[in-house]
Amino acid sequence: MHYSVFSIISQAFKGQKDWKPVWRYPDPKAEYEILIIGGGGHGLSTAYYLAKNHGYTNIAVIEKNYLGSGSVGRNTTIVRSNYQEPGNIPFYEHSLKLWEGLEQDFNYNAMMSQRGVLNLYHSDSQRDDYARRGNAMMMHGVRADLLNREQVRDVVPFLDFDNARFPIHGGLMQWRGGTARHDAVAWGFARGADSRGVDILQNTEAKQIRVENGKVTGVETSRGFIKAKKVGIVAAGNTTRIAETAGLRLPIESYVLQAFVSEAIKPLIPCVVTFGAGHFYISQSDKGGLVFGASLDYYTSYAARGNLPGVEDTIEEAMAIMPSISRVKLLRHWGGIMDMSMDGSPIIDKTGIDGLYINCGWCYGGFKATPASGYCFAHLLATGESHPVATALKLNRFETGYVIDEAGTGAQPNLH
Ligand SMILES: Cc1cc2nc3c(=O)[nH]c(=O)nc-3n(C[C@H](O)[C@H](O)[C@H](O)COP(=O)(O)OP(=O)(O)OC[C@H]3O[C@@H](n4cnc5c(N)ncnc54)[C@H](O)[C@@H]3O)c2cc1C
Repeated sequence: MHYSVFSIISQAFKGQKDWKPVWRYPDPKAEYEILIIGGGGHGLSTAYYLAKNHGYTNIAVIEKNYLGSGSVGRNTTIVRSNYQEPGNIPFYEHSLKLWEGLEQDFNYNAMMSQRGVLNLYHSDSQRDDYARRGNAMMMHGVRADLLNREQVRDVVPFLDFDNARFPIHGGLMQWRGGTARHDAVAWGFARGADSRGVDILQNTEAKQIRVENGKVTGVETSRGFIKAKKVGIVAAGNTTRIAETAGLRLPIESYVLQAFVSEAIKPLIPCVVTFGAGHFYISQSDKGGLVFGASLDYYTSYAARGNLPGVEDTIEEAMAIMPSISRVKLLRHWGGIMDMSMDGSPIIDKTGIDGLYINCGWCYGGFKATPASGYCFAHLLATGESHPVATALKLNRFETGYVIDEAGTGAQPNLH
């Protein structure tokens, strides 16, 4: 069913009775050509592009819970491509370009809003660092604007510019960055994949990847064994647990990250703002709630719930840049599991096991990557070759030492 203004008007005359379910609830088949483990944003976009770009229809996505129950429905919705490392910029820019046409492409309203992403700087050395990042972006054809203090004040006048400890000196702006409605992205990809024949199997947990003579043969699931020629692990925070069943140890650790939403207030924040003296980011949803978050809870965990020190740290950072919101009530907060890689950059690659592929290491920046991750993983699964914008995102970089360390913190996953 095609969604358009005409379908809305015609349904209004029919008493809204003819809307079709957005996806089917099929039973698993005995065998698929490709089986994707994980029905988050990346798994669903992989299935979508496998069907759309490569003509695969005999494929399935297995999801242990319901669609959107993982981090795709728990994130703070920031979309951007303001990276610095040559291995990352082309990939994230490819993703942003896909975002720009996504809603038309999958015919679903994902509420993509290019309202701008502003990274504040608070010292001369940080300004130099951001200038370097902006230059790196521009060398790859990605626009970046280094704003001085007064230019920042024009955009976000309510910030505490003269905070004694962290005065705001300026910011790096990517105007094309912004936000999208996170769960709608999962639903849009699911609908697009389903309509092309992909089986989306909810409440189907992968228990064990079966490998015989160095080749993958299928997956034991909570609904029985499913045979597959190729299997892709796209399980974000649970990647290591599933890979372990095939005997793989990956350079990934899982941590919790929390998100927060306040009560709705009148329009205040026009873009996404990030605090450069800490790790705090804030935007305002279309409903008026302030949506914000900060750093990880610093211990490894597979539980999608956070702890109070993380809450305290986040609120302190909020007060450092925006004391004006100190009386705004916090409405809800929650946690999600982050697959933190050792260099802070993702992995889209084959493994040493024939037919087994991985897509992981998204850390807390995987939402913005959702379209390109699926696009490039589908390319790899279909052709056996890395997509040109993802050639640096290989697993063997942890052997060769050609890591992509944006933060420069070394093999310390919880610091990226
Ligand atoms: C609080 C928070 C804020 C964030 N903010 C941002 C942001 O602003 N911008 C940004 O770019 N990124 C952000 N992220 C990161 C981003 O959300 C993730 O990197 C991204 O969603 C991960 O990919 P995914 O959508 O496929 O993951 P998920 O949605 O977690 O999908 C993985 C799926 O695999 C399923 N699964 C796991 N094990 C199994 C199994 N054994 N069998 C079957 N299925 C299984 C899970 O149930 C889950 O649905 C944030 C994350 C969090 C938690």
